Amino acid sequence: AKEQGRNMYQIYSRSMDKRDYHSFLLERDLRKALLKDELVVHLQPRVNTKTGRIVGAEALVRWMHPQLGLIAPCEFIPLAEESGLIIPLGKWMKRKVCELLDNWRNRGIPLIPIGVNISSQRFLQKDFSKEVRSLLEEYQLDGKWLELEITENSIMKNEEYILETLRELKALGIKIYIDDFGTGYSSFHYLKTFKLDGIKIDQSFVQNLSCQSENAEITIAMIKMAKHLKMDVIAEGVETEEELAFLLEQNCFHVQGYLFGKPCAIDEFEKCYLTTV
Ligand code: C2E
Ligand code: CA
Ligand code: CA
Ligand code: CA
Repeated sequence: AKEQGRNMYQIYSRSMDKRDYHSFLLERDLRKALLKDELVVHLQPRVNTKTGRIVGAEALVRWMHPQLGLIAPCEFIPLAEESGLIIPLGKWMKRKVCELLDNWRNRGIPLIPIGVNISSQRFLQKDFSKEVRSLLEEYQLDGKWLELEITENSIMKNEEYILETLRELKALGIKIYIDDFGTGYSSFHYLKTFKLDGIKIDQSFVQNLSCQSENAEITIAMIKMAKHLKMDVIAEGVETEEELAFLLEQNCFHVQGYLFGKPCAIDEFEKCYLTTV
């Protein structure tokens, strides 16, 4: 293996710098990780602050690398996007989440919807809704338990078949949220055209929400707009009591952030947030 490693270095060192080489190794490992079950699903609770209840969760991928330990998605999602590995990775995530919901149901645990992040690369492929539909059928799950988080780039182009995909997903009872709202190429046009279920206000806007900040003005505008369009609003990255108080004042009750809970492993999530019967 050492010999092989050396050869590889020789081959690639000519055309790649160190950083590329690191990516190269990581990509090679990621390919294996998908087969070896080294990826892990973490869950972060979503809370309704009016009732204090857990109203959902977001599934976030982690990588348990045998040498490097737990790797955060920002380290390997971009690589997965570049290499196309994001397609099998996303497939794996969706399946894991359906498996989990099925498991909860079998154990008599009341279900909560779980949001999954969908790469625009996958969303824009024609058979996306078909994949989701057959997965739901396989696990006999109602679409309302699986929520999809897509980014603004996913709905910028190819209007016709995006409309069709969205229609098909809607028919399955699936809710669709725009993730990182406000950070992409927002256009009011698509908000009108595509009837989406909600927006997730990006955490960069939620940070340091106080009465006079610029962020406050923008957040107020986003909440107002979403309400007019009858869309749900989730505020992401809520970390402080001040931010929470501000959001409450704006009638934004659906929140997610470290103030309520960091993403954690499934068994911990079950212990902390779920009611077992
Ligand atoms: P995201 O979808 O915007 O997910 C929210 C990120 O914010 C998560 O980072 C979460 O841990 C973090 N976060 C939540 N609350 C707080 C808070 O109060 N303060 C701060 N500072 N951060 C908070 P994470 O898990 O590192 O994920 C980063 C990004 O990686 C995600 O951003 C998403 O774009 C991507 N990602 C994660 N899992 C998947 C996946 O399964 N598929 C795809 N395509 N992308 C994924
Ligand atoms: Ca997300
Ligand atoms: Ca987000
Ligand atoms: Ca993001």
